[in-house]
Amino acid sequence: MKDLPYVHLIDHPLVQHKLTLMRRKDASTNSFRTLLNELSMLMAYEVTRDMEVSYVEIETPMEKMQAPTIDGKKLALISILRAGNGILDGMLQVVPGARVGHIGLYRDPKTLEAVEYFFKVPQNMHERDVIMVDPMLATGNSAAAAVTRIKKTHPKSIKFLCLLTCPEGITALHAAHPDVHIYTAAIDRQLNDHGYILPGLGDAGDRIFGTK
Ligand code: URA
Repeated sequence: MKDLPYVHLIDHPLVQHKLTLMRRKDASTNSFRTLLNELSMLMAYEVTRDMEVSYVEIETPMEKMQAPTIDGKKLALISILRAGNGILDGMLQVVPGARVGHIGLYRDPKTLEAVEYFFKVPQNMHERDVIMVDPMLATGNSAAAAVTRIKKTHPKSIKFLCLLTCPEGITALHAAHPDVHIYTAAIDRQLNDHGYILPGLGDAGDRIFGTK
């Protein structure tokens, strides 16, 4: 896939190495979860790179200075249930002040429309920058529906952070929300007929929570 200005590939060797370990089918639930936690911390650096800083006066042992600080509370991490929860802990270790919301959607088997079954986000969303998290951006359908729902709360900005995606997922999310930048550690080859990413890493939720 050619370079796209709205897709940020996090190609740091540490990120790539850990992702390879996670992809292996024999990785245990424990190591999968630990690696996702570590990767989330590393990806947090990239996705927050343009966060606003303000300057406060502090005193070092030597003298006074104006030093940069961030206001973590201005950030809302929105987990797309359930696999998105696997990314929260690592990001919160890096930005502990961030607020957290959750959105749960399922696809109605008859209408194929996304139906919301859970929605809880911080107050005053209009004052916050949002990072939506889901390890897998696959068909892009639930991601697009989740972004549509979050836009109704009028946040200052929205980014989408995933571990893995594929051309189909990027195209679908971008078509629905061209203003949302996508941060990912890899863009895999394709989706299969069941909506799984190839080569991918299987079902992220099952691998995080050990449900299969
Ligand atoms: N969700 C997953 O967990 N894995 C995929 O490959 C696609 C969607």
